[in-house]
Amino acid sequence: MARTLNLGILAHVDAGKTTLTERLLHAAGVIEEVGSVDHGTTHTDTLALERRRGITIRSAVVSFTLGDVTVNLVDTPGHSDFIAEVERALAVLDGAVLVVSAVEGVQAQTRVLMRVLQRLRIPTLVFVNKVDRAGARPGRVLAEIAERLSPDVVAMGEVMGAGTRGARFERAAETDPATLDRLAEVLTRHDDRLLAAWLDEDGVAPARLRAALAGQTAAVRVHPVLFGSAATGAGVAELMAALTTLLPTAAGDADGPVSGTVFKVERGPAGERLAWVRLFSGTVRVRDRLPVGDAEARVTGIRVCEDGDDVVSQALTAGRVGVLSGLAGVRVGDAVGMPWPGAAPAHHFSPPSLETVVEPCDPRRRAALHAALTELCEQDPMVGLRQDDVRRELSVSLYGEVQKEVLAATLADDYGVRVGFRETTPLCVERVLGRGTAFELIDVEPNPFLATVGLAVEPAPLGHGVDFRLGVELGSMPPAFFTAVEGAMRETLQQGLHGWAVPDCVVTITHSGYWARQSHAHGTFDASMSSTAGDFRLLTPLVLATALCRAGTVVCQPVHRFEVEVPGDALSAVLALLARVQAVPLETQVRGTAYLLSGLVPAARVHELRQQLPGASRGEGVLVDAFDHHEPVRGPVPERARTDHNPLDRKGYLLHTVRRQ
Ligand code: GDP
Repeated sequence: MARTLNLGILAHVDAGKTTLTERLLHAAGVIEEVGSVDHGTTHTDTLALERRRGITIRSAVVSFTLGDVTVNLVDTPGHSDFIAEVERALAVLDGAVLVVSAVEGVQAQTRVLMRVLQRLRIPTLVFVNKVDRAGARPGRVLAEIAERLSPDVVAMGEVMGAGTRGARFERAAETDPATLDRLAEVLTRHDDRLLAAWLDEDGVAPARLRAALAGQTAAVRVHPVLFGSAATGAGVAELMAALTTLLPTAAGDADGPVSGTVFKVERGPAGERLAWVRLFSGTVRVRDRLPVGDAEARVTGIRVCEDGDDVVSQALTAGRVGVLSGLAGVRVGDAVGMPWPGAAPAHHFSPPSLETVVEPCDPRRRAALHAALTELCEQDPMVGLRQDDVRRELSVSLYGEVQKEVLAATLADDYGVRVGFRETTPLCVERVLGRGTAFELIDVEPNPFLATVGLAVEPAPLGHGVDFRLGVELGSMPPAFFTAVEGAMRETLQQGLHGWAVPDCVVTITHSGYWARQSHAHGTFDASMSSTAGDFRLLTPLVLATALCRAGTVVCQPVHRFEVEVPGDALSAVLALLARVQAVPLETQVRGTAYLLSGLVPAARVHELRQQLPGASRGEGVLVDAFDHHEPVRGPVPERARTDHNPLDRKGYLLHTVRRQ
C-alpha cells in the first residue's frame, strides 16, 4: 500500500528552509529548476508579504513522491510571533526536519521550535545546512545541538571539506565498528534489552540497530542529525533517504471511522470556504455528510495533494491531507468526523495574549473592514474579532506585534481596506473564585420577564471550558427555553465582572419555569401571558451577573515565558532591563562567553523588552517568547469596556431590553 508522510520543515529565519524546500522539490522532480530565494521566485511563499519580509507566514502544502512514499510537505510558519499558528500546523505532521545553520549554529528560536516539536511528540530529524559556507563548523554545531537541543542525537555521517564550495556529506558506513559504537551508545540509553544484547559477546547486528534507530526516532527519543548544503545539494539525497527510512509514515485505517483535523481554511475563487484537512482515520467521499466542528456539513468537492499540485479526487483516505469544499461553517481547529483521540487537545495550543483596536484609514470603509474581519474570524477563531457598538470600534486578538503587519497586508491586498492600529494591550481573562447562586421567579417582582431562571456558577480547572449542567428536570421546560438559557449564558460569560472573558467555569441551571402558550378568547396568541425564548434570553444575563458577583472573579493577565541570549559584558544591563519590564529570570546558563537567561514576563511588557533589548545588549541580545499562563493581576485591576447592555447594571440593562408586549 502506498505510504504517506506528512512532513514539516522548521528553521530559524535564514537557516535555509526555503532553499532546502526548493532543493527537495527539485530532486523529487516536482519543479524543473531550483528557484532562488534571493530572487523571490520560490514556490512555497504564498504571500507577497512573505517575500518582502523574507519569512514564511501562511502554511500551504506541496507534495512529492519518494519511492513508495507520498510526502506532503506542510509549510509551517517560522516566525516566533506565530508560534501558536506553527503549533496548529505541526499537530498534523508525522515527522519534521529541523534546519540548523552550520555557520550560525543553534539559535534561541531553534530551541523554541525543538521544544514545541517535543511537546507535540513529533519525530524530528535535524539537518545542519550551509556546510559549504565559509565559517561552517559542523563538528561544533553538532556539539551545540547535543548540548542545547537534546542530548539524544546521533550524527549519521561526517562532513568533508566544510566551509568550501566542494563540501560533501559522507554517510557513515553501517558496518564500521566506530559507527556502530556511536549508534549503540545513544540507542542503548533508552532500551535495556538492546543494552543487554550490546554487552553480550555476540554483539548486535547492524540491522537491529537500524531498526532501533527508526523505532526510537518515531518515539521521539532520538534525533538523527544529517549535514549538507541546500545551496549546492550536498547531503540532500541522504536527507531524502532518511525521510523515508527514519521517519514513521502515516498509519491510519481507511475503513475505520472518519476522523480528521482542519488545520487551515482558505477562500476559493467564489468566496467559498476551503478546508485543509489531515485525515487520521476513515475515508471521506464527495457528497458524504459529516460532523464538522459543532455542525454537520456535506462535502461537495475534494482535492488531494499529488506531485506538487492538488488534484480533484473522489475520496480522501486516512493518512493523507486534502482540501474539502462544501463545509460552510468550517473553522481552523475543527474536528471532521469524530475527534481524533491522538490529536493535541485545544488547550495545548497557545491562545493569543494581546489585542488591539483596528481602524480604517478612510472612515467610510468601516463597513468593509467589518465584513473583512468577520470573514477572517470565521475562518480562524483565533482572530477573535470584537465589536464595540458604543465606541464604534473593532478589535482583534494578536500573538505579537508582527501580526499587525500581516493583518494590515492581508486587509489591504485581499480586501482593499487600508488600516491602522491602536496600541497593543494584554488580553486578560477572569477566573471564578467561588460558588455563587441567584434566581428570579416568574411573575415575582422585580422580574419583568415571563421566565423563571436560577443559576449556580462555580470555578472549573484551567482549559475546562464553560460547562452547562442541568440541576432541574429536562422535561420541566420546552427544549427551546433551555437552549435560550445556555446561549445567553455563554454570551454573557464573554464579559465577566471586569469586562474580560470567563473561559472556564461550571454553570448549573437550578430553577426553571414558564407560562404555557396562552390565547385570547378570539384565538390569537397572548404574548403578555405566554413565555417565549426571548424571556429566557433576556433574563439569563441578569441572573448570571448576580450569581457571578456572588461567586467573585479575579482578573488574570497573560504571562509569557522568555529566553534571552546575551553577551557576558551586557549581562548587568540586560538584567536591569528585565527588572524594569517586570520580567522574572528563573534560570541562567553560561554559554561560552554569553549567558542564556530564561524566565517569565507579563505579555503586556514583551514588546517593550524586545524594543529595548538591542540597546541594552549592543544589538546582540536575542529574545524569544511564547504564552505560558495567566496569573492574577497585582495592583490596579484592568477594566475592559463592555460591548453588551451590561447586565451588572440592572436599570440600564432593563432600559435597553424592555419586553415587547
Ligand atoms: P529561510 O529563511 O530559512 O527560508 O532561509 P532561505 O532559504 O531563504 O536562505 C537564507 C539565505 O541563506 C539565502 O540567501 C540563501 O541563498 C542562503 N542559503 C540557504 N541555504 C544555503 C546553503 O546551504 N549554503 C549557502 N552557502 N547558503 C545558503
